[in-house]
Amino acid sequence: MQDVSPVSDDKAQKAAFESNKLAKRLRHHVGDAINDFNMIEEGDRIMVCLSGGKDSYALLDILLGLQKSAPIDFSIVAVNLDQKQPGFPEDVLPGYLESIGVEYRIVEEDTYSIVKRVVPEGKTTCALCSRLRRGILYRVATELGATKIALGHHRDDILQTLFLNMFYGGKLKAMPPKLVSDDGRHVVIRPLAYCREKDIERYAQMRAFPIIPCNLCGSQPNLQRQVVKEMINDWDRRFPGRVETMFRALRNVVPSHLADTALYDFATIAPGVVPEAGGDTAFDKEEFRDPVAPADDVEAPRRTISILDSRPKAPECQ
Ligand code: SF4
Repeated sequence: MQDVSPVSDDKAQKAAFESNKLAKRLRHHVGDAINDFNMIEEGDRIMVCLSGGKDSYALLDILLGLQKSAPIDFSIVAVNLDQKQPGFPEDVLPGYLESIGVEYRIVEEDTYSIVKRVVPEGKTTCALCSRLRRGILYRVATELGATKIALGHHRDDILQTLFLNMFYGGKLKAMPPKLVSDDGRHVVIRPLAYCREKDIERYAQMRAFPIIPCNLCGSQPNLQRQVVKEMINDWDRRFPGRVETMFRALRNVVPSHLADTALYDFATIAPGVVPEAGGDTAFDKEEFRDPVAPADDVEAPRRTISILDSRPKAPECQ
């Protein structure tokens, strides 16, 4: 029998409140990223790449929500690439996409066989697999007349990439929220750039997305990324606010206080030149803010039209 006691009622109310708060937070993070990087403009046709994982489902869901209320018009087409991995449940995505009534295209290309044939046994298959997938998705974007390609990478992916590049690549380089594709013909956007993975995980559970497992190809997860992920998660547990601070650092770069001679003209530094704002002062004590304090000074300027604004109401007929 169903429990309808005041206690369970209370619990249900609290859960609904928390879910609502989470949905609002994600919507705001996505809206802010779109605004800050001018990701979506009037008339855009956004191709949302849908893998069947939690991130891409959340991306599509939130963009569809914003599309309904945004003060600009843009269209969305969801695209899934069926790479013919053994056991891929072909009906799941079409069923879901039909049920929400979004325009979609399922592209079938057997990259799985190519990868298995070309890559020697025991070697990692991801590099070739991603290259093939990228090429196909760019081609499909052109066929569909998409002006932007939206990917489901989030803030944790961006930070992990930063550390991977530092630890193993010797580069200070993360994953940009917006970029030109490597064939130079498309603009790629990452509207989840400000969203935390744990929020997306909870959102995916709350919305009951029909998740497709991501290990169908049989490839081992990238061990280095796994190590970096655990390192960041460990910091997050022990030092609340550190992840937020690290992400803020990506938006607050001082080239004169790094050591890249291609980025800053150190050779011409001479007395009399105005010191760089935000840089160190050579001999003074270092001062760092409380990591959990809000960072008012790094807010990006807001655009006049925000995707989070409501669509203006049509004038009423007299
Ligand atoms: S995990 Fe599998 S599907 Fe994903 S990129 Fe690697 S090989 Fe391709």
